[in-house]
Amino acid sequence: TISQTLSEIQELIELDKKHYLHPTTVPKLFQEKGPKIIFQEGKGIRVTDVKGDTYIDGVSMLWNVNLGHGNEELAKAAYDQLSTIAYSSSFYSYSNPNAVRLAQKVVSVAPGDLCAIFYTSGGSESNDTAFKLARFYWNLKGRQTKKKIISITRSYHGATVSAGSATGIEAFHNFAGSRDIDIINARGHVTNCELGDKTDSNYEGCIRDTIEKVGAENIAAVILEPIQGAGGVHVSPDGYLKAVKDLCKANEILLIADEVICGFGRTGQWFGVDNWDVVPDIMSVAKGITSGYAQLGGVLVNKEIRDTLNEHDQILGHGFTYSGHPTACAVALKNLEIIERDNLIGNAKNMELVLKNGFDYLANKHKHFAKPRAIGLLAGFDLQADPDTDTPFEQSIRAAAFVVEHCFNNKLILRAADFEEGKNIVAIAPPLIINKEEVEE
Ligand code: PLP
Repeated sequence: TISQTLSEIQELIELDKKHYLHPTTVPKLFQEKGPKIIFQEGKGIRVTDVKGDTYIDGVSMLWNVNLGHGNEELAKAAYDQLSTIAYSSSFYSYSNPNAVRLAQKVVSVAPGDLCAIFYTSGGSESNDTAFKLARFYWNLKGRQTKKKIISITRSYHGATVSAGSATGIEAFHNFAGSRDIDIINARGHVTNCELGDKTDSNYEGCIRDTIEKVGAENIAAVILEPIQGAGGVHVSPDGYLKAVKDLCKANEILLIADEVICGFGRTGQWFGVDNWDVVPDIMSVAKGITSGYAQLGGVLVNKEIRDTLNEHDQILGHGFTYSGHPTACAVALKNLEIIERDNLIGNAKNMELVLKNGFDYLANKHKHFAKPRAIGLLAGFDLQADPDTDTPFEQSIRAAAFVVEHCFNNKLILRAADFEEGKNIVAIAPPLIINKEEVEE
Protein backbone atom coordinates (compact mmCIF):
# COMPACT_ATOMS: atom_id res chain seq x y z
CA THR A 1 0.00 0.00 0.00
CA ILE A 2 2.83 2.38 0.65
CA SER A 3 4.95 1.91 -2.42
CA GLN A 4 4.87 4.69 -4.94
CA THR A 5 4.47 4.29 -8.66
CA LEU A 6 7.60 4.08 -10.78
CA SER A 7 6.97 7.49 -12.31
CA GLU A 8 6.52 9.04 -8.88
CA ILE A 9 9.82 7.50 -7.76
CA GLN A 10 11.55 8.72 -10.91
CA GLU A 11 10.23 12.21 -10.28
CA LEU A 12 11.51 12.12 -6.66
CA ILE A 13 14.95 11.07 -7.86
CA GLU A 14 15.15 13.87 -10.43
CA LEU A 15 13.97 16.52 -7.95
CA ASP A 16 16.35 15.20 -5.31
CA LYS A 17 19.32 15.52 -7.68
CA LYS A 18 18.29 19.00 -8.68
CA HIS A 19 17.42 20.65 -5.38
CA TYR A 20 18.66 18.66 -2.40
CA LEU A 21 22.26 18.79 -1.14
CA HIS A 22 23.00 15.74 1.04
CA PRO A 23 25.36 15.50 4.02
CA THR A 24 28.53 13.37 3.66
CA THR A 25 27.82 12.69 0.01
CA VAL A 26 29.96 13.43 -3.05
CA PRO A 27 27.68 15.74 -5.08
CA LYS A 28 29.16 14.63 -8.42
CA LEU A 29 28.55 10.96 -7.64
CA PHE A 30 25.06 11.78 -6.42
CA GLN A 31 24.30 13.29 -9.79
CA GLU A 32 25.29 10.01 -11.41
CA LYS A 33 23.68 7.60 -8.99
CA GLY A 34 20.91 9.51 -7.22
CA PRO A 35 19.67 8.61 -3.74
CA LYS A 36 20.68 5.17 -2.47
CA ILE A 37 17.35 4.61 -0.80
CA ILE A 38 14.25 6.71 -0.24
CA PHE A 39 12.65 5.77 3.06
CA GLN A 40 8.91 5.74 3.31
CA GLU A 41 7.89 3.92 6.49
CA GLY A 42 9.26 2.10 9.52
CA LYS A 43 8.08 -0.32 12.17
CA GLY A 44 10.22 -1.69 14.97
CA ILE A 45 13.68 -2.60 13.70
CA ARG A 46 12.55 -2.47 10.04
CA VAL A 47 12.23 0.28 7.46
CA THR A 48 10.55 0.17 4.08
CA ASP A 49 11.48 2.24 1.06
CA VAL A 50 9.30 3.85 -1.59
CA LYS A 51 9.66 0.78 -3.78
CA GLY A 52 8.19 -1.39 -1.03
CA ASP A 53 11.45 -3.16 -0.10
CA THR A 54 11.95 -3.78 3.63
CA TYR A 55 15.33 -3.64 5.40
CA ILE A 56 16.53 -4.36 8.93
CA ASP A 57 17.85 -1.11 10.36
CA GLY A 58 21.02 -2.47 11.94
CA VAL A 59 22.36 0.93 12.97
CA SER A 60 19.18 2.66 14.20
CA MET A 61 19.67 5.07 11.25
CA LEU A 62 22.36 7.35 12.74
CA TRP A 63 22.66 5.46 16.05
CA ASN A 64 19.64 7.37 17.28
CA VAL A 65 16.33 5.56 16.70
CA ASN A 66 16.70 3.65 19.95
CA LEU A 67 13.01 2.85 20.41
CA GLY A 68 12.77 1.63 16.83
CA HIS A 69 10.53 3.00 14.12
CA GLY A 70 6.80 3.73 14.16
CA ASN A 71 6.40 4.10 17.91
CA GLU A 72 2.87 5.42 18.36
CA GLU A 73 3.32 6.46 21.99
CA LEU A 74 6.04 8.89 20.93
CA ALA A 75 3.90 10.08 18.02
CA LYS A 76 1.02 10.71 20.40
CA ALA A 77 3.23 12.58 22.87
CA ALA A 78 4.30 14.85 19.99
CA TYR A 79 0.74 15.27 18.70
CA ASP A 80 -0.63 16.13 22.13
CA GLN A 81 1.97 18.80 22.68
CA LEU A 82 1.80 20.13 19.11
CA SER A 83 -1.91 20.67 19.50
CA THR A 84 -1.59 22.29 22.94
CA ILE A 85 1.27 24.70 22.35
CA ALA A 86 3.74 23.45 19.76
CA TYR A 87 6.50 25.88 20.54
CA SER A 88 7.41 28.45 23.13
CA SER A 89 10.69 30.28 23.69
CA SER A 90 13.22 29.59 26.41
CA PHE A 91 15.01 32.91 25.97
CA TYR A 92 14.62 35.84 28.41
CA SER A 93 13.80 33.52 31.34
CA TYR A 94 10.72 32.05 29.59
CA SER A 95 10.03 28.45 30.52
CA ASN A 96 7.72 25.51 29.86
CA PRO A 97 6.68 22.50 31.97
CA ASN A 98 8.12 19.81 29.69
CA ALA A 99 11.60 21.36 29.62
CA VAL A 100 11.55 21.61 33.42
CA ARG A 101 10.33 18.04 33.94
CA LEU A 102 12.80 16.68 31.43
CA ALA A 103 15.67 18.50 33.14
CA GLN A 104 14.65 16.88 36.42
CA LYS A 105 14.38 13.44 34.79
CA VAL A 106 17.70 13.56 32.93
CA VAL A 107 19.54 14.81 36.00
CA SER A 108 18.01 12.00 38.08
CA VAL A 109 19.53 9.31 35.84
CA ALA A 110 22.81 11.13 35.12
CA PRO A 111 25.94 10.08 37.01
CA GLY A 112 27.44 11.83 40.03
CA ASP A 113 26.67 15.48 40.63
CA LEU A 114 25.65 16.46 37.10
CA CYS A 115 22.70 18.59 38.10
CA ALA A 116 21.59 21.03 35.40
CA ILE A 117 21.04 20.95 31.64
CA PHE A 118 21.29 23.51 28.82
CA TYR A 119 19.14 22.46 25.85
CA THR A 120 20.23 22.41 22.22
CA SER A 121 18.81 20.96 19.00
CA GLY A 122 21.41 18.23 18.46
CA GLY A 123 24.84 16.81 19.15
CA SER A 124 27.03 19.36 17.37
CA GLU A 125 25.27 22.21 19.10
CA SER A 126 25.67 20.34 22.39
CA ASN A 127 29.43 20.09 21.96
CA ASP A 128 29.80 23.72 20.85
CA THR A 129 27.77 24.64 23.92
CA ALA A 130 29.94 22.42 26.14
CA PHE A 131 33.06 24.26 24.90
CA LYS A 132 31.45 27.64 25.54
CA LEU A 133 30.22 26.67 29.00
CA ALA A 134 33.68 25.38 29.92
CA ARG A 135 35.26 28.66 28.80
CA PHE A 136 32.54 30.71 30.47
CA TYR A 137 33.15 28.81 33.73
CA TRP A 138 36.88 29.53 33.63
CA ASN A 139 36.21 33.18 32.79
CA LEU A 140 33.98 33.48 35.83
CA LYS A 141 36.76 31.92 37.88
CA GLY A 142 39.13 34.63 36.64
CA ARG A 143 41.09 32.11 34.54
CA GLN A 144 40.66 33.81 31.15
CA THR A 145 43.59 32.02 29.49
CA LYS A 146 41.93 28.62 29.85
CA LYS A 147 40.39 28.44 26.37
CA LYS A 148 41.78 25.49 24.46
CA ILE A 149 39.94 22.22 24.08
CA ILE A 150 41.72 18.89 23.63
CA SER A 151 39.96 16.16 21.66
CA ILE A 152 41.35 12.82 20.56
CA THR A 153 42.00 10.87 17.39
CA ARG A 154 39.13 9.05 15.68
CA SER A 155 36.53 10.92 17.73
CA TYR A 156 33.37 12.26 16.15
CA HIS A 157 31.85 15.28 17.86
CA GLY A 158 29.78 16.82 15.08
CA ALA A 159 30.06 19.11 12.10
CA THR A 160 29.75 22.74 13.21
CA VAL A 161 33.00 24.73 13.10
CA SER A 162 34.00 23.94 16.69
CA ALA A 163 32.52 20.45 17.05
CA GLY A 164 33.87 19.64 13.57
CA SER A 165 37.33 20.79 14.63
CA ALA A 166 37.13 18.62 17.74
CA THR A 167 36.20 15.68 15.53
CA GLY A 168 39.40 13.67 15.17
CA ILE A 169 38.63 12.35 11.68
CA GLU A 170 40.47 14.34 9.06
CA ALA A 171 37.85 13.91 6.37
CA PHE A 172 35.69 16.32 8.35
CA HIS A 173 38.44 18.96 8.55
CA ASN A 174 39.40 19.18 4.92
CA PHE A 175 36.02 20.04 3.50
CA ALA A 176 35.86 23.80 4.06
CA GLY A 177 39.34 24.45 5.38
CA SER A 178 38.08 26.37 8.38
CA ARG A 179 38.95 25.16 11.86
CA ASP A 180 38.57 26.44 15.38
CA ILE A 181 42.15 27.33 16.28
CA ASP A 182 41.57 26.74 19.98
CA ILE A 183 40.92 23.06 19.45
CA ILE A 184 43.78 20.57 19.50
CA ASN A 185 43.51 16.95 18.39
CA ALA A 186 45.62 14.71 20.64
CA ARG A 187 46.22 10.98 20.47
CA GLY A 188 43.86 9.00 22.62
CA HIS A 189 42.94 5.55 23.87
CA VAL A 190 46.48 4.77 24.95
CA THR A 191 46.15 4.23 28.67
CA ASN A 192 49.79 4.12 29.62
CA CYS A 193 50.45 7.57 28.16
CA GLU A 194 47.56 9.04 30.07
CA LEU A 195 49.02 7.45 33.17
CA GLY A 196 52.25 9.28 32.39
CA ASP A 197 54.39 6.46 31.03
CA LYS A 198 56.86 8.38 28.84
CA THR A 199 58.38 5.14 27.60
CA ASP A 200 55.11 4.31 25.83
CA SER A 201 55.78 4.62 22.11
CA ASN A 202 52.55 6.64 21.74
CA TYR A 203 53.50 9.23 24.35
CA GLU A 204 54.26 11.93 21.78
CA GLY A 205 51.00 13.76 21.16
CA CYS A 206 48.91 11.91 23.76
CA ILE A 207 46.67 13.90 26.10
CA ARG A 208 49.29 14.16 28.86
CA ASP A 209 52.02 15.21 26.44
CA THR A 210 49.68 17.79 24.88
CA ILE A 211 48.83 19.28 28.29
CA GLU A 212 52.55 19.52 29.10
CA LYS A 213 53.32 21.22 25.79
CA VAL A 214 50.34 23.61 25.63
CA GLY A 215 50.23 24.34 29.36
CA ALA A 216 47.30 23.54 31.64
CA GLU A 217 46.78 27.26 32.15
CA ASN A 218 45.67 27.47 28.51
CA ILE A 219 43.35 24.47 28.47
CA ALA A 220 39.66 24.61 29.36
CA ALA A 221 38.60 21.02 28.76
CA VAL A 222 39.25 17.59 27.31
CA ILE A 223 36.41 16.05 25.30
CA LEU A 224 36.00 12.38 24.48
CA GLU A 225 33.40 9.74 23.73
CA PRO A 226 33.40 6.93 26.32
CA ILE A 227 33.06 4.59 23.36
CA GLN A 228 33.89 6.11 20.00
CA GLY A 229 31.08 5.58 17.53
CA ALA A 230 31.57 6.95 14.02
CA GLY A 231 35.36 6.56 14.31
CA GLY A 232 34.87 2.79 14.43
CA VAL A 233 33.27 1.62 17.70
CA HIS A 234 36.43 1.87 19.78
CA VAL A 235 35.75 0.89 23.37
CA SER A 236 37.87 2.73 25.94
CA PRO A 237 40.31 0.28 27.56
CA ASP A 238 39.60 -0.37 31.25
CA GLY A 239 41.27 2.29 33.35
CA TYR A 240 41.49 4.79 30.50
CA LEU A 241 38.59 7.08 31.40
CA LYS A 242 39.62 7.18 35.03
CA ALA A 243 43.19 7.97 34.04
CA VAL A 244 42.00 10.86 31.87
CA LYS A 245 39.67 12.09 34.59
CA ASP A 246 42.51 12.06 37.17
CA LEU A 247 44.82 13.78 34.71
CA CYS A 248 42.22 16.50 34.10
CA LYS A 249 41.58 16.96 37.78
CA ALA A 250 45.26 17.26 38.62
CA ASN A 251 45.61 19.95 35.94
CA GLU A 252 42.36 21.84 36.63
CA ILE A 253 40.93 20.88 33.27
CA LEU A 254 37.27 19.99 32.80
CA LEU A 255 36.35 16.59 31.36
CA ILE A 256 33.54 16.64 28.78
CA ALA A 257 31.98 13.25 28.01
CA ASP A 258 30.32 13.20 24.59
CA GLU A 259 27.41 10.84 25.27
CA VAL A 260 25.55 11.69 22.07
CA ILE A 261 25.62 8.04 20.94
CA CYS A 262 26.28 6.25 24.25
CA GLY A 263 23.64 8.06 26.30
CA PHE A 264 20.23 6.73 27.31
CA GLY A 265 20.84 3.01 27.30
CA ARG A 266 22.77 2.26 24.12
CA THR A 267 25.63 0.59 26.01
CA GLY A 268 23.49 -1.32 28.51
CA GLN A 269 23.88 1.47 31.10
CA TRP A 270 22.17 4.85 31.25
CA PHE A 271 25.40 6.48 30.04
CA GLY A 272 28.62 5.22 28.52
CA VAL A 273 30.71 6.54 31.43
CA ASP A 274 28.65 4.39 33.82
CA ASN A 275 30.46 1.35 32.42
CA TRP A 276 33.57 2.60 34.22
CA ASP A 277 31.97 4.63 37.05
CA VAL A 278 33.62 7.84 35.91
CA VAL A 279 31.80 11.14 36.40
CA PRO A 280 32.62 13.89 33.88
CA ASP A 281 32.29 17.59 34.70
CA ILE A 282 30.20 18.21 31.58
CA MET A 283 28.21 15.77 29.48
CA SER A 284 26.82 16.28 25.96
CA VAL A 285 23.69 14.39 24.95
CA ALA A 286 21.37 14.26 21.91
CA LYS A 287 20.19 11.41 19.61
CA GLY A 288 18.86 8.80 22.10
CA ILE A 289 17.20 11.43 24.30
CA THR A 290 14.25 11.40 21.86
CA SER A 291 15.14 8.27 19.87
CA GLY A 292 15.29 10.60 16.88
CA TYR A 293 11.56 11.40 17.01
CA ALA A 294 12.36 15.09 17.58
CA GLN A 295 15.47 17.22 17.36
CA LEU A 296 16.87 17.70 20.83
CA GLY A 297 20.21 17.78 22.58
CA GLY A 298 21.56 19.04 25.84
CA VAL A 299 24.62 19.73 27.94
CA LEU A 300 24.72 18.69 31.57
CA VAL A 301 27.02 20.42 34.01
CA ASN A 302 28.12 19.47 37.50
CA LYS A 303 27.28 21.26 40.72
CA GLU A 304 30.47 23.30 40.81
CA ILE A 305 29.80 24.71 37.33
CA ARG A 306 26.10 25.34 37.97
CA ASP A 307 26.83 27.04 41.29
CA THR A 308 29.56 29.20 39.75
CA LEU A 309 27.16 30.34 37.01
CA ASN A 310 24.54 31.07 39.65
CA GLU A 311 26.91 33.15 41.76
CA HIS A 312 27.79 35.70 39.08
CA ASP A 313 25.68 38.31 37.37
CA GLN A 314 27.05 37.71 33.87
CA ILE A 315 24.59 36.80 31.14
CA LEU A 316 24.79 33.30 29.68
CA GLY A 317 24.94 34.81 26.22
CA HIS A 318 24.18 31.69 24.24
CA GLY A 319 21.11 29.81 23.07
CA PHE A 320 19.13 28.40 20.18
CA THR A 321 15.61 29.10 19.00
CA TYR A 322 14.80 25.47 19.71
CA SER A 323 16.48 25.27 23.16
CA GLY A 324 13.94 23.57 25.42
CA HIS A 325 11.45 23.01 22.58
CA PRO A 326 8.26 21.90 24.36
CA THR A 327 7.32 19.28 21.77
CA ALA A 328 10.84 17.82 21.60
CA CYS A 329 10.90 17.72 25.41
CA ALA A 330 7.48 16.00 25.50
CA VAL A 331 8.82 13.33 23.15
CA ALA A 332 11.97 12.96 25.26
CA LEU A 333 9.96 12.55 28.47
CA LYS A 334 7.84 9.81 26.91
CA ASN A 335 10.94 8.19 25.40
CA LEU A 336 12.68 8.00 28.78
CA GLU A 337 9.50 6.71 30.40
CA ILE A 338 9.33 3.86 27.86
CA ILE A 339 13.04 3.05 28.23
CA GLU A 340 12.49 2.55 31.97
CA ARG A 341 9.07 0.88 31.76
CA ASP A 342 10.18 -1.66 29.15
CA ASN A 343 13.62 -2.20 30.70
CA LEU A 344 15.35 -1.42 27.41
CA ILE A 345 18.68 -0.80 29.10
CA GLY A 346 18.55 -4.33 30.50
CA ASN A 347 17.52 -5.56 27.07
CA ALA A 348 20.56 -3.88 25.49
CA LYS A 349 22.77 -5.69 27.98
CA ASN A 350 21.07 -9.05 27.31
CA MET A 351 21.20 -8.63 23.55
CA GLU A 352 24.92 -7.91 23.81
CA LEU A 353 25.35 -11.58 24.67
CA VAL A 354 23.27 -12.71 21.69
CA LEU A 355 25.32 -10.47 19.40
CA LYS A 356 28.54 -11.89 20.83
CA ASN A 357 27.31 -15.44 20.14
CA GLY A 358 26.73 -14.33 16.57
CA PHE A 359 30.24 -12.93 16.45
CA ASP A 360 31.62 -16.31 17.59
CA TYR A 361 29.75 -17.93 14.71
CA LEU A 362 31.14 -15.40 12.22
CA ALA A 363 34.66 -15.74 13.60
CA ASN A 364 34.56 -19.47 12.91
CA LYS A 365 33.11 -19.02 9.47
CA HIS A 366 35.04 -16.11 8.00
CA LYS A 367 38.80 -15.83 7.89
CA HIS A 368 38.82 -12.02 7.66
CA PHE A 369 36.54 -11.42 10.66
CA ALA A 370 38.50 -9.74 13.47
CA LYS A 371 38.28 -7.86 16.75
CA PRO A 372 34.56 -8.27 17.51
CA ARG A 373 33.32 -5.97 20.26
CA ALA A 374 29.95 -5.17 21.76
CA ILE A 375 29.05 -3.13 24.76
CA GLY A 376 25.30 -3.24 25.08
CA LEU A 377 24.01 -2.65 21.55
CA LEU A 378 26.99 -0.64 20.38
CA ALA A 379 29.01 -3.13 18.43
CA GLY A 380 31.44 -3.62 15.61
CA PHE A 381 34.14 -5.74 14.08
CA ASP A 382 37.20 -5.30 11.90
CA LEU A 383 37.96 -6.99 8.63
CA GLN A 384 41.61 -7.85 8.21
CA ALA A 385 43.75 -9.67 5.67
CA ASP A 386 44.95 -11.91 8.52
CA PRO A 387 43.39 -11.52 11.97
CA ASP A 388 45.85 -14.01 13.51
CA THR A 389 48.76 -11.70 12.79
CA ASP A 390 46.75 -8.44 13.08
CA THR A 391 47.51 -7.69 9.42
CA PRO A 392 45.22 -5.14 7.72
CA PHE A 393 44.13 -5.28 4.11
CA GLU A 394 46.04 -3.21 1.59
CA GLN A 395 44.68 0.31 1.49
CA SER A 396 43.04 -0.16 -1.89
CA ILE A 397 40.86 -2.97 -0.54
CA ARG A 398 37.72 -1.46 0.96
CA ALA A 399 36.50 -4.60 2.67
CA ALA A 400 34.15 -2.90 5.13
CA ALA A 401 32.43 -0.91 2.40
CA PHE A 402 32.12 -4.11 0.37
CA VAL A 403 30.53 -6.05 3.23
CA VAL A 404 28.17 -3.21 4.09
CA GLU A 405 27.10 -3.01 0.45
CA HIS A 406 26.59 -6.77 0.33
CA CYS A 407 24.44 -6.59 3.48
CA PHE A 408 22.45 -3.72 2.00
CA ASN A 409 21.74 -5.77 -1.10
CA ASN A 410 20.46 -8.46 1.27
CA LYS A 411 18.24 -5.98 3.11
CA LEU A 412 20.34 -5.28 6.18
CA ILE A 413 21.54 -1.73 6.83
CA LEU A 414 24.94 -1.53 8.57
CA ARG A 415 27.66 1.09 8.51
CA ALA A 416 31.30 1.08 7.44
CA ALA A 417 33.86 3.07 9.42
CA ASP A 418 36.90 3.23 7.21
CA PHE A 419 38.11 6.80 7.65
CA GLU A 420 41.42 5.66 9.01
CA GLU A 421 43.98 4.36 6.52
CA GLY A 422 43.91 0.59 6.26
CA LYS A 423 41.06 0.25 8.76
CA ASN A 424 37.99 -1.70 7.73
CA ILE A 425 35.38 -1.60 10.47
CA VAL A 426 31.72 -2.53 10.34
CA ALA A 427 29.45 -0.89 12.95
CA ILE A 428 26.26 -2.40 14.33
CA ALA A 429 23.82 -0.53 16.59
CA PRO A 430 20.25 -1.78 16.22
CA PRO A 431 17.31 -0.26 18.10
CA LEU A 432 17.27 -1.15 21.82
CA ILE A 433 13.88 -2.86 21.38
CA ILE A 434 15.44 -5.64 19.31
CA ASN A 435 14.76 -9.20 20.52
CA LYS A 436 16.83 -12.39 20.40
CA GLU A 437 15.30 -13.74 17.19
CA GLU A 438 15.85 -10.42 15.46
CA VAL A 439 19.50 -10.22 16.54
CA GLU A 440 20.00 -13.75 15.27
CA GLU A 441 18.27 -12.92 11.98
N1 PLP B 1 28.80 13.49 19.00
C1 PLP B 1 28.75 12.20 18.65
C2 PLP B 1 29.44 11.18 19.51
C3 PLP B 1 28.07 11.81 17.49
O1 PLP B 1 28.05 10.53 17.11
C4 PLP B 1 27.41 12.80 16.73
C5 PLP B 1 26.67 12.43 15.50
O2 PLP B 1 26.78 11.36 14.99
C6 PLP B 1 27.49 14.13 17.14
C7 PLP B 1 28.18 14.44 18.28
C8 PLP B 1 26.85 15.22 16.34
O3 PLP B 1 25.48 15.20 16.50
P1 PLP B 1 24.52 15.94 15.45
O4 PLP B 1 24.69 15.24 14.16
O5 PLP B 1 23.16 15.76 16.09
O6 PLP B 1 24.91 17.37 15.40
